[in-house]
Amino acid sequence: MATFVNRPFDPGMKQRQLEIRLQGLEGFSQPSSRLEQYATPPSLAAELLHLAALHGDLGQIADLGCGTGILAIGAALLGARAVGVEIDPLAISHARRNAALAGVEVDIVRGDVSSIWLRDMDAVVMNPPFGAQLASRGDRIFLKKAIQLAPVVYSIHNAGSEGFIRKFVAPARVDRVWRGSLPIKRCFAFHRQECMELEVELYRIVCK
Ligand code: SAH
Repeated sequence: MATFVNRPFDPGMKQRQLEIRLQGLEGFSQPSSRLEQYATPPSLAAELLHLAALHGDLGQIADLGCGTGILAIGAALLGARAVGVEIDPLAISHARRNAALAGVEVDIVRGDVSSIWLRDMDAVVMNPPFGAQLASRGDRIFLKKAIQLAPVVYSIHNAGSEGFIRKFVAPARVDRVWRGSLPIKRCFAFHRQECMELEVELYRIVCK
């Protein structure tokens, strides 16, 4: 595990200020549909991280499938020590550049979430692939790993997933569910509309 130096510590940063900082980050330059690379919009990322901060969950966090790093970097801006795990080297280079742009230290590990292990995590934050494409193997491997790694998990899923999630994570329990929508810009050829709203749910899962 890397050591973290020169991190700003700002647990009091307002949600809107965080959102503005996250708006300055780069998105995926060549998003892979196979890996379901959809970047979390800054507003949703800031909301997830603020909820985690309010619950006192942002100590050492892991961002599984960190993509361009928005959740890990946002957590670091709020004072967390953050490690991102990502399978795609191109996304990792964006995440590293983004961390430098934001002026925070984030540890990025290349690997498949199903085969990594990280010690002493206080929370996992993630926007996993929803499972539409087989290559990503969907949210199951992410959920399974997340509840093994940390006592608290924040995770974004398709609306209507609650029954599945409750069953899948048991005996861990769903503590809260927030509902919202995710604007998705047309980024893959199979998208028919320029922009669509995807209904999503944000879960707080408690493992102990
Ligand atoms: N967390 C980022 C990206 C979400 S998209 C954000 O919130 O913006 C999901 C990410 O999971 C993609 O970057 C994709 O490359 C990564 N991913 C998919 N399958 C993976 C796996 N098995 N192991 C690690 N990362 C994976």
